[in-house]
Amino acid sequence: MPVIRTCPNCGQKNRIPATRLADTGRCGACKNELAPVGEPIPVDTQLFDEIVQNAPVPILVDFWAEWCGPCRMAAHEVARTAADTKGRALVLKVDTEQNPQLSARYNVRGIPNFAVFSGGQTRLAAGRPRRPPADGKLARLRTHHLSAEAASLHRQCFDSSSKLHFRTRWASIS
Ligand SMILES: [Zn+2]
Repeated sequence: MPVIRTCPNCGQKNRIPATRLADTGRCGACKNELAPVGEPIPVDTQLFDEIVQNAPVPILVDFWAEWCGPCRMAAHEVARTAADTKGRALVLKVDTEQNPQLSARYNVRGIPNFAVFSGGQTRLAAGRPRRPPADGKLARLRTHHLSAEAASLHRQCFDSSSKLHFRTRWASIS
């Protein structure tokens, strides 16, 4: 099930395969340029697997739920991350209420929670944050995205103050 994107020029619905989501494409009807996806993509299990297994760029996954206040607070930063990394990374949103099997697969017990995938592999595991991420923490992750060229993400840790802490390092895949 490919992602459907509506052409801003002619309204044509274009089916974008997972391998091309971070590419600049062309509308099948009017040939207008279609920019790479620059917003978080809501996914179910099937679309999640398709994108994680096939997309050639790093992927940040936001596990969230409607009832979760800290998730809503983090949503703005997540959206900014998607915009800032357009063409270089993808951002997926997993509604944990709708997709409990995905939460179980990645051992997500508390939300908001984030995982990073690259080349079909987990690079930054989901884990239980003891506190919701402060904006600065997520901003730090975003900054690392920004400084990346082509990259993979290596590790995560929780800092001594118990705040969710992403310690990320992007390195060129060679
Ligand atoms: Zn068009």
